Amino acid sequence: MDKHLTPGHVICLINPVTVNLSHNILVINCGSSSLKFAVIDPESTQVLIQGIAERLNSPDALLKVQPLGSQAIPYINHAKAMAAILASLGDIPIAGIGHRVVHGGEFFSASVLLNEDAVAKIDACRALAPLHNPAHVTGIRAAMENFPELPHVAVFDTAFHQTMPPHAYFYALPYDLYKTHQVRRYGFHGTSHRFVAEQAATLLDKPFTELQIITAHLGNGCSACAIKNGQSMDTTMGLTPLEGLAMGTRSGDVDPNLIQFLVEQTGRDIRQVTDLLNRDSGLLGLSGLSNDMRTLLEAADNGHSRAELAIDVFCYRLAKGILGLAAALDRIDALIFTGGIGENSAPIRARTLAHLKVLKPTLDHDLNSAHGRHTAGRITTTDSALTALVVPTNEELVIARETQRLLQP
Ligand code: ADP
Repeated sequence: MDKHLTPGHVICLINPVTVNLSHNILVINCGSSSLKFAVIDPESTQVLIQGIAERLNSPDALLKVQPLGSQAIPYINHAKAMAAILASLGDIPIAGIGHRVVHGGEFFSASVLLNEDAVAKIDACRALAPLHNPAHVTGIRAAMENFPELPHVAVFDTAFHQTMPPHAYFYALPYDLYKTHQVRRYGFHGTSHRFVAEQAATLLDKPFTELQIITAHLGNGCSACAIKNGQSMDTTMGLTPLEGLAMGTRSGDVDPNLIQFLVEQTGRDIRQVTDLLNRDSGLLGLSGLSNDMRTLLEAADNGHSRAELAIDVFCYRLAKGILGLAAALDRIDALIFTGGIGENSAPIRARTLAHLKVLKPTLDHDLNSAHGRHTAGRITTTDSALTALVVPTNEELVIARETQRLLQP
């Protein structure tokens, strides 16, 4: 049963023996209509408390905190939700706050300790991520007001990809658009790509800085990344997270002339067409059924032909994206699957590898079934020409570790 949240409730739920008082990081992911948080000890990786305030600014606004319960707080806004979340932490000691920020533009190639100048730069990127960056700034300011004495760190989805060479990040557009409007490819999911590639290096017992890896982050949003000697060399997402692979509700790459075509043929305006590409396309649009891969796999097993089509397009487009990224590398030491689909779905991994025959992978069916969300590991045979791995991602842990790293003198 839902409980009423009051500050201090949580104290009795934390085992004092397992809590390292000096390391806890509050990780905040502030979106346009939701605010997710978690308190993590980056050393033990233990999550002490986590939750989400969702449907903000609506009559259905709700604060859910594990392990406390849920509370309806109609019309609560970001600032008040932040105060409620901070209150729910009770007496848990916090060493610093890490904020996930989607877009750092060209300002940030690494995580940063937040001050007024850094917050202003995040705000200046709002045109590049209109749904996300304004919400991040609101969240950062609210957290800074509530916790002025704590250090705040921003960790960017784009930062890892700032090492891409110009031939990978330039669009073949008039150069002035780059100079005047910062039109270029940025890439996203950087914390996840880096984390799973580093984990893979440990699994392979090789230095991260000597490996050439392709990572496929397959969640609701999907992107793949070519990593050479520890640096992102290219990725499938671009100016925004719409470019590249087919995703849950996003189309990924389409012919840019499609937009004018749909405006003229369907009477939609540009905003509606953009919404269609972002919210009504991908797995959902093709199947007409769901953006959830579990639902589609089950439906396809029961003969739903459009679910089958959606899965087919998803896997083929992923394989094509992976082969495109190979242009950024000299060789592929490992292909890594991660994210909700990449970690949990052995059939999607198998079907993607089946489209990569040119790389000569030999799937080990037992390992592919055995490894996943809870156990990282190889899914190809030891003599396979291509080594494929599944490695669970943990973006909150990366943010906590980055924050801890920046707090050190
Ligand atoms: P987000 O991008 O929102 O973080 P996730 O990484 O949680 O998303 O991934 C969500 C996707 O993972 C959904 O498409 C969901 O269907 C898929 N997924 C989760 N579990 C499974 C599973 N067992 N089999 C196939 N797909 C799964």
